[in-house]
Amino acid sequence: MNENKLILKQLFKNMFYNLIAFTILFVAFGVIALSQVRVSLYLKLDDELKNAQKMMVNLIVNENLNFDSHVGIDDRKRKDNLIGFGGPRVIPLLRNKDGQVVNFGSVNNTYFEQYLKYITFNQGQLFRIIPITVQNRYYFRSLTIPVSTKDGKQLYLQLLINADSERALLSHISFIIFFSSGLFIVLSILASYLLSQKTMSPIRKAWYKQAEFVENVSHELRTPLTIIQNSLESLMISSKKKIMDQSETLALVYDETSRLSKLVTDMLTLARSGGMMTEITKDVFSLDHLIKIVSEPYIELAESQQKSFQLDLNCPTNIDADKSRIHQLLVILFDNALKYTNPHDSITIQSRLKDNKISLIVSDTGIGISDEAINKIFDRFYREDRARALNRSGTGLGLSIASWIVQRHGGTIKVRHNEPKGTIFTIKIPI
Ligand code: ADP
Repeated sequence: MNENKLILKQLFKNMFYNLIAFTILFVAFGVIALSQVRVSLYLKLDDELKNAQKMMVNLIVNENLNFDSHVGIDDRKRKDNLIGFGGPRVIPLLRNKDGQVVNFGSVNNTYFEQYLKYITFNQGQLFRIIPITVQNRYYFRSLTIPVSTKDGKQLYLQLLINADSERALLSHISFIIFFSSGLFIVLSILASYLLSQKTMSPIRKAWYKQAEFVENVSHELRTPLTIIQNSLESLMISSKKKIMDQSETLALVYDETSRLSKLVTDMLTLARSGGMMTEITKDVFSLDHLIKIVSEPYIELAESQQKSFQLDLNCPTNIDADKSRIHQLLVILFDNALKYTNPHDSITIQSRLKDNKISLIVSDTGIGISDEAINKIFDRFYREDRARALNRSGTGLGLSIASWIVQRHGGTIKVRHNEPKGTIFTIKIPI
């Protein structure tokens, strides 16, 4: 599978998972919101029923009520009807043990014929609030309890409250939640796509970087390997010659093998640096002292090449850093300073302490770096053409490693032109 297909496949996979996550969230939100509205709406009705129950039981047990339905409605006291005593919305039905409604007021209620007479009564469902649907149109909540009147009659008090408006409100809210969840799910397809694009972006970058790295590595490895192979072939052809006579070829093989070895070590350092696998082991030491030790062979080498290599060290404090990595950093910078300078050029190493930071400045009056290349020299394998033209050994990995070391110490590395010519590297590391 090629890389684009692989990335695309991953993109759709991510998008699918994002979409599922969004859908679950919206559905869960809808269900929770709806059940909360439902509970709070019915809770109010149920409270009304329970309050009405208390008041009416008091009335039935303590008062001599007359439920006789033969007396005309105008002759009756309102109390006898029970109507209105449990609150304006509560309808009381007083039933005998056969389930017949005995309170005169309710039977004569205008709505009795229309729907109250269809309300079911079940002696098995006492003390519980249950929903009742009448003619598939009207909704009630009902609470039934057994009561005995003052004169000892055993009756059942069924309290009803109409829940039509709550039902209508609930179905309206359900529709809104259902509709908006649907809309959000559709919108989340777009959001999932954008999110996946965003999460894939660093993966995509890493993928291409990796591919580029592998390409560069193979390219860099191929050159020394070809040289070594050719040299060995020529050695085999002229196997009768003495080793001394082959010294030039052997030296070439040796140089290229060393180059390969350095390349592999550098690549390993960089590969580990990406995954943060290389730990930093900090020590307290004097940077000036380390610079003095590391620069010794460079001073001699510079002398032999007719270059000046000067130290201007003025960092009175110790630094808390990984000594071997700082050593590696100095070697990279000093190596480059020597590599990219010509006879009579000068190299100066400065150290200073400012604002709780140590600054290390490596300046040279060498070949310098072009404006175009100055932003690229920290990229892996980047070598400027003028550096290649000098035919000095190099892998293009040194400054990438230097930059990683400085970053791991929480510092910065910057490069600028030296006047009138050459390059200045400034490194700042907090102490
Ligand atoms: P190399 O192994 O090529 O030196 P580096 O990563 O150390 O790799 O450096 C990358 C490139 O930066 C070099 O090839 C060179 O073009 C440029 N460079 C680094 N240091 C200097 C310097 N002191 N003067 C001029 N150019 C430099």
